[in-house]
Amino acid sequence: MKTHARVVVIGGGVVGVSTLYHLALKGWTDAVLLERAELTAGSTWHAAGLLPLFNMSYTVGQLHKYSVDLYKRLPAETGQDVSFHVTGNLRLATCRDGMDDLQGGHCPNDDASRSVAGDAQIGPGDCNNGGRSWQAPENHRMPVEGVIGMKEAKEYLLTPVGHVRSLLKKRKNAPRQGYLGAPDACVEIAAEFKKCVEGIASGDEIVLITWLHEARRSVKKVHPGADEKNPLMGVFATRSPDRPNPVGLHRVKVLQIEGLRLKVGPLEAIDGTPVVDIKPVLEKKCDS
Ligand SMILES: Cc1cc2nc3c(=O)[nH]c(=O)nc-3n(C[C@H](O)[C@H](O)[C@H](O)COP(=O)(O)OP(=O)(O)OC[C@H]3O[C@@H](n4cnc5c(N)ncnc54)[C@H](O)[C@@H]3O)c2cc1C
Repeated sequence: MKTHARVVVIGGGVVGVSTLYHLALKGWTDAVLLERAELTAGSTWHAAGLLPLFNMSYTVGQLHKYSVDLYKRLPAETGQDVSFHVTGNLRLATCRDGMDDLQGGHCPNDDASRSVAGDAQIGPGDCNNGGRSWQAPENHRMPVEGVIGMKEAKEYLLTPVGHVRSLLKKRKNAPRQGYLGAPDACVEIAAEFKKCVEGIASGDEIVLITWLHEARRSVKKVHPGADEKNPLMGVFATRSPDRPNPVGLHRVKVLQIEGLRLKVGPLEAIDGTPVVDIKPVLEKKCDS
């Protein structure tokens, strides 16, 4: 057994092992850690392991930010899985004072916090029932971000009400509009929205509002019709699917209804496209 070391770290909790790890990173080789029981036997064993980026203290916020970055790179650095899961987190304020507290909190790096943790804050206006829960929609996580209720939100949450089931599997094979040779397709409505479908009948014309999930949201200008001979135009002057909020509008005819499956056509949206809303066409000249 060693009787002498340059550094002796006492206690193998997260603080002790982290101290030893960072000493080793800095090249300190003559260092040992003494643990009286087993590693993480102390409060580290009990910890939930949460690393919120939102903190009431700037300094603690910086520590957490360092930890988030460290846990992300540890598997590559050590070859060991550290079970680090990036999730969202929802903060509730039930009164104005509570909201002020949230807004006064420190986020070490606002952008990092949003993209890493998807933090959300809900104000009193959103808590009519004294609380609120948030779940990421299955397969299509569109995070709530920013401060909602007390000032304009930066982002809003869309929940798919159904999905397109189509023979069109790839975006590159999809015609740009339904009337350009698109096939008939099905819209599978999620069970929780069953009541919303009541009143739609076979033969109706409806507008499907979709979320074009494969679109590139950073695109600001395009050649209309994807034809380079056409001069570049701002996406708002075009029907391009690539745009900041890739909402698709599809005027289709309801061909058949079987329970929660609406057969519609023609539809250019590809298989798996989330449907976020359905509205009736009000008059024949109404644009879709
Ligand atoms: C229920 C619970 C939930 C928590 N959740 C979170 C969370 O979500 N996020 C978060 O950031 N923090 C959380 N914490 C706090 C966090 O767990 C502690 O701040 C952290 O684990 C402290 O680590 P530590 O290394 O200082 O102490 P410990 O983990 O307690 O480690 C001390 C170690 O020293 C050993 N030791 C003691 N005396 C000696 C000795 N004389 N010689 C040798 N070894 C000795 C002990 O056996 C132990 O292994 C939580 C704590 C608890 C209890």
